[in-house]
Parts: sequence; structure tokens; C-alpha cells
Amino acid sequence: MTSGRAVRYEKALARALDAGYEILQNGKALDAVCAAVVALEDSPLFNAGRGACYNTDGKHELDAAVMDGATRRAGAVAAVSRLRNPVLAARAVMEKSTHVLLVGRGAERFALAHGARIAPASYFATRSRLVALKRRLTGHHGTVGAVAVDADGNLAAATSTGGYTGKLPGRVGDSPLIGAGTYADEICAVSGTGFGEAFIRTVLAYDVAARMRYRGEKLARASAAALARIAALGADGGLIAVDRRGNIAMPFNSEGMYRGAIDQQGHRRLAIY
Ligand code: ASP
Repeated sequence: MTSGRAVRYEKALARALDAGYEILQNGKALDAVCAAVVALEDSPLFNAGRGACYNTDGKHELDAAVMDGATRRAGAVAAVSRLRNPVLAARAVMEKSTHVLLVGRGAERFALAHGARIAPASYFATRSRLVALKRRLTGHHGTVGAVAVDADGNLAAATSTGGYTGKLPGRVGDSPLIGAGTYADEICAVSGTGFGEAFIRTVLAYDVAARMRYRGEKLARASAAALARIAALGADGGLIAVDRRGNIAMPFNSEGMYRGAIDQQGHRRLAIY
């Protein structure tokens, strides 16, 4: 990580925070998390949307989910290759179908019928991710996610990812699985990044919410305890979470996690390590 690179990441994070914050002035948490994730998907820096990593076929298969805490409505897409903003397709599944998760061609067809923008394979081609595939680099996450609470106390979470470099074609990660990489109810909203298989096996995002609901744990403690369970499986990653009072937790056990938060007064916090 050079200082120039860090500045680029911080700028992209700040743009996403501002996109969400603007909406939260008089809008809903659900709209805010989608706007923030779209901003991150559109940036080539992150492993989602435009900057997604390659699978072993040298192709991109993207996963995304969104969940509205107040209503517990949720939508997700998995293994899509042609959608510019998978998070918006996830939202369309939530709002325009009776389903929660659509995959592959069916998901693309559905999203296109509901106004999704398509992108050619070249749109997703980034040199750094190709180098990562050639060198079989793993361990670099970069899934994007956003969680928010709005003025009415409603919570929402959204997550979008390319998975990880060198994953098998057809592999689906934790991000589009409600309760694993993405979850929101009336207590908290959670979005995860890291070795997805461990998040699935520990039902990580739901574990945070369940600890708060059934054990009365505070957000920080519940988040740290849930994350410890992926660490116990030998996996690394992190999560971002917010509760209805606006408390924020962003624990990780990886080397770093690009993250940012903005509060009611508009104070931004950005960090990498
Ligand atoms: N959690 C994502 C997945 O397994 C990857 C990541 O966060 O980097 O699909």
C-alpha cells in the first residue's frame, strides 16, 4: 500500500459515504446503502462491480444482496456476469419478485426486464485483478458493503462482491446469502467481507443479530464474538455493523479493511488498518 494508493481508496470511500449521507438527510436507510454500494461497484478499486476479481475461467461472476431491516424483505443475485450494478439487481429481486435469490442467467434476464444496465465483459476487465489471477494471489478481499440507520430508526444492509480470485465457476459466496454475509432486522444491520465459506458456515451476519436479540449483547461485543468464530475456523475477514441507536462496529482480523463511517453530524471516519 503506497500513500498514493491509500488516498485513492480513501477518496472512493468518501464518495460512497457522501452518497449515502445525502440520502439519509430525508430518505431511507435502504436507499442510502444501495447508493453507497453503487458508488463502490462503479469504482475499479474494489472487488465488486467494475473491479471484480476473476474466477479460474478468467471470467467474472458477481454476487450481491440487500436487506431492509424493518420489513425483513431481502433480495439477492449470485453468479451474474453482465450486470453493471448487481446490488440494484438484488433490490429488484426484493421489490419486484416474490423470491429472495436469483442466480446466473435467470437473474440477469430478470434484472434486464426491470431496467438493469448491462455491461460488456471488457467493462469488468482490470489489469491488477488479471495479474492477481495469473499469480494465483489469494487473501485479498475487497467485497463492498454498506449498513445504515435512518432518522426513523430503520436499518438496512447491502453487500456486493466478485468473490475471490481463482474461485471455481459457479461458486457462490456469503455475500448474497441472507444471514451469512448480509443481514438486517430491527436491531442491527450487518455486512461482511472475508473468506466467504467461513461466513456461511458460521452464519456470521445473523450471529451478530442473534447475540444481540437473545443474549442482550451490545453491538461491539456481538460483532467481535461473531467474528471470533470465523477466526476459530482459521479464516480472516471483517464486518461492518450498525444498530438502531447509531452505534457502529467495524471489527476485522485481516491485515486491514478499507472502511468508513459517517455520523448524524456528517463527521467522517476513514481507515485502512
Ligand atoms: N466474502 C467474499 C466472498 O467470499 C469475498 C471477500 O469478501 O473478499 O465471496
